[in-house]
Order: sequence, then C-alpha cells, then structure tokens
Amino acid sequence: MILIVDDKQENIFSLEKTLQLKGFHTDSALSGEEALKKCLKKDYALIILDVQMPGMDGYEVAETLSGIKRTKDIPIIFLSAVNREKQYITKGYESGGIDYITKPVDPDILLLKVKTFYRLYEQTSELQRMQEVLRTEIRHRKQAQSELSDKLEELKVTMEALPQLAFTTDSEGEVDYVNEQWFRYAPDKSSWPTLHPQDLHVFEDWKLQLENLQPLEKEVRLLECNSQIYRYHLVKIVPVTLGADGTRWVGIMTDIDERKLLEKKKDEFLSVASHELKTPLTSIKAFSEIALRAMKDLTTHKAYGYVSKVQDQSEKLNSLVQDLLDISRMENGGLKVNMQEVDLEEIIHQAMESTLMTNQHRPLHIERTGDAFAKPVLADPLRIEQVLSNYLSNAVKYAPDSDSVIVHSTVDENFLTIEVRDNGIGIPQQKIPYVFDKFFRVQDASARFQGLGLGLHICKEIIAQHGGACGVESKVGQGSVFYFTLPISR
Ligand code: ADP
Repeated sequence: MILIVDDKQENIFSLEKTLQLKGFHTDSALSGEEALKKCLKKDYALIILDVQMPGMDGYEVAETLSGIKRTKDIPIIFLSAVNREKQYITKGYESGGIDYITKPVDPDILLLKVKTFYRLYEQTSELQRMQEVLRTEIRHRKQAQSELSDKLEELKVTMEALPQLAFTTDSEGEVDYVNEQWFRYAPDKSSWPTLHPQDLHVFEDWKLQLENLQPLEKEVRLLECNSQIYRYHLVKIVPVTLGADGTRWVGIMTDIDERKLLEKKKDEFLSVASHELKTPLTSIKAFSEIALRAMKDLTTHKAYGYVSKVQDQSEKLNSLVQDLLDISRMENGGLKVNMQEVDLEEIIHQAMESTLMTNQHRPLHIERTGDAFAKPVLADPLRIEQVLSNYLSNAVKYAPDSDSVIVHSTVDENFLTIEVRDNGIGIPQQKIPYVFDKFFRVQDASARFQGLGLGLHICKEIIAQHGGACGVESKVGQGSVFYFTLPISR
C-alpha cells in the first residue's frame, strides 16, 4: 500500500489515478499530522510526500518517521517545487530510501520511481522476514543445545552415583563417557573390559543391535583388573534418540556374580538330590509292582489298596524327579533329542491312553480332532510323548470341573501343529508370557494344584531342540489351548 500525502485533494486524486491504473493500492492523508497517525497504525510500502504543506511540512514528517522504529525504513518520495526545496531534502538524509520528484509530476517518472522503491521495499521486507526466521531458528537451536547438555550433565552425575559400571557411546558404538566403576575392569576409557573367551560373541551381538537400533541384554563374565578373576555381569545397553544429534547408547553392567554362584549351587543341589532320589525310588516302584503282582488274587484285600496307592504316589514322585533331572541336564546343555522317523498318531494315542489311565478316578473324555498324520515325522518319540503327556495332564489338572479335553492337529506346508484344548480355569492374560519359564506357576492356581512349575519349561526346550515352538492361548474361566509346532521334514 502506498500513502500519498498532500494538502490538495486534487493532487492526491490525480496521483491515485496514475498509480491505481498500474495496479498499486493507495491511501491518502491531507496533512503531515494525519500521515503520521496513519503510519503508526498501518504498514506502508512507500510514502509520496508533498514538501510544502501548512502545519507540519514534508521535511518534518520525514524526520519524525525516521526516528520511529516502525516507520524508519519506509521509503519516501518527496514532491517538491523545483530546486529550492531540493537542498533541504537531500540534506540530512542518508538512508537511501529517499527520492524526489519535481512538480508538475511527470507520470512516467513517478511510476518508474514508485516501481523501484516498491521492489526495494518488497526485497527488504523479505530479507527482514528471513532474518527473523533465522534468528528464531538460532534461538531454538541454542536452547535445545543447552537443554541437551544440561540433560547429559544430569545423566553423568546420576551415572557417577551408580554402583554399576556405566558408559555412553556415540551412534557408532565409540565409548565417550565412563563412570568411576569402569576402571575396576578396564585400564582406561577407550578400552573395553576384558571378556571371558566364551563371551566374546557379545561384541558381534551388539554390532547387530547397533545396526537395528535394538537394546542389548546379556550375561557376560568380565575380568576384574586387581583380582584377575572373572565376575558375571548383566549387560544392558539401550539406544537413546536425541533429535538431530542421532542416536546415542547408554550402557549399564551390573555385577550378578553372587547370584550366579547361588544359582549354580542350587542347580548342583537339585542335580545331586534328584540323582540320589532316583535309585531308592526305582526300588520302591519295582517292589510295589512285585507286591501287587504277588497279591493278584487278593485285590479286594485292604493291603492291595494300600500298595496300589504306594505305586500311584511313587509314579508321581518319579515324574517330579524326572523333571528335576531334565532341568539339571538342560542346565548342563545335556538334554539331547534322539531323532528318528515316528508315527505321530501312535504317540498321540499313547499319550491319551496313559492320561486316561492315570485319571481313572474321574470321568474323562479325550477327543481327537483335526488333520491325521499320515506320514512319518522326524522326532524323538519319547520326548514328544513327554510333551503331549505334560500338556494333557495339565489340561486335566487345571480343569477340575470339566471332563473333556481335545487333541487337535493341523498340518500346513512347513509345520504341523498339535493343540491340547481344555475348559479349565484358564490363565490371566498378563501371566501368559511367563508360563514356559522355569519354576513359574500362576499364583492363584499354585495354592490349589500341586506342581513344581518345571513341566512346561522342559516342553519348551524339547520342542526347541526339534526346531519347533510352543505357545498358549487362554482366557480366565474359559480354558486354555496349549500347542506346539514341529517342522515337517521333506
Ligand atoms: P506345574 O503344573 O507343575 O505347576 P507347568 O510348567 O506344567 O508346572 O505349568 C506352569 C504353570 O502354568 C502352572 O503352575 C499353571 O499355573 C499354568 N498352567 C499350565 N497348564 C495350564 C492349563 N492347562 N490351564 C491353566 N493353567 C495352566
């Protein structure tokens, strides 16, 4: 918008006409005072200012405008009578935004000057806008940077206070900060603690996590500098994304050596205890069986019932001891499977039969549904039967008010799946991820039902050895579906 200031309405009118014809928007003021007021309220790209006006003349108006921040950069074209006033105008103005036109006004010259000043104004405005944007950007960056360094400082103070080894790395995994504890295991900041030769793969694991931006959690043995003894540590390294600065990594190594020692002692005890229990138990089982056979004509005698109970209970004890032995084998990497071509239908049938046998005291119906296994499958028959029997006995045990269980199977291109479905108590959603963990038992159920919480853990290991996977779907009060898959050999 262009402001035309002249005390004569006819002058304003003719200038407005000339400019509007060329597409400029105009505004007008009939005195210097009015012009000042308007300039304080509106933004003008250019002012055409008559010098000779009653009251405040053009010269005074221009000087006032040049002293106000909001208006000091508006270019001004003076309209002056020839020469005499020219000296005044040029004097004292060095802003470059000033020009003059002599009266009577030549419209071509006026338009030329207006166009030049208008373009100048637009360019200046654009520059100022860009400057403002840049200034804001710089301000924001500075603020973000200072917040970041505050946070890093805070993090470092926290890390110094930790009893664990703590460190941070850049996005490439180069260590750039370590806390005091680090030096118990490494001579300086740029060296990693020495790993046990069997744990060296952790470096490779971490490289992979670095590329995938995934956290790492591993148990490793670190060599303590003073004692030259390896101590178990739990290493956790997590990525922290810091906006434009990319990803950094924060690592913590917690000493778990004492816990590992206790775990080892417990495993050793379980291993010895289960081995020691095994021999007398086998004798009890054998002798109760001999006794029952010897009493085959006395089945109605009270003693026969007692010995039968001894046999039932020793069977249960035997399966517990067997689980403990399996666990101790697993701990030592010794739970191996003996793969051979097997008839899965036969195995399913046997597992169903033995479940029915051991639950003769209650009504029970096990239904077989789904795809039948026509072709032999590569598997360890005893171990697969163990898994199925475990699923089935759980399906019976954890469904005290139901008498029906289903064994359902499906076969697809690469895998076969066997499911055991029950209508039992079900498992709370939040507990499902843990049911295959060692010694895990759902708390509500553990008070009502006997068990050690080992069976499913062993099942998972057996199926993993076969290259398959275990899983469960369940709803509290509605029942559970425990399943496992096995790869189909070609
Ligand atoms: P155990 O039965 O000896 O406790 P398992 O390892 O076989 O040990 O099972 C672990 C836990 O999973 C059980 O304690 C029980 O809480 C839950 N669970 C297993 N099977 C079922 C099932 N069919 N229905 C409900 N809960 C189950």
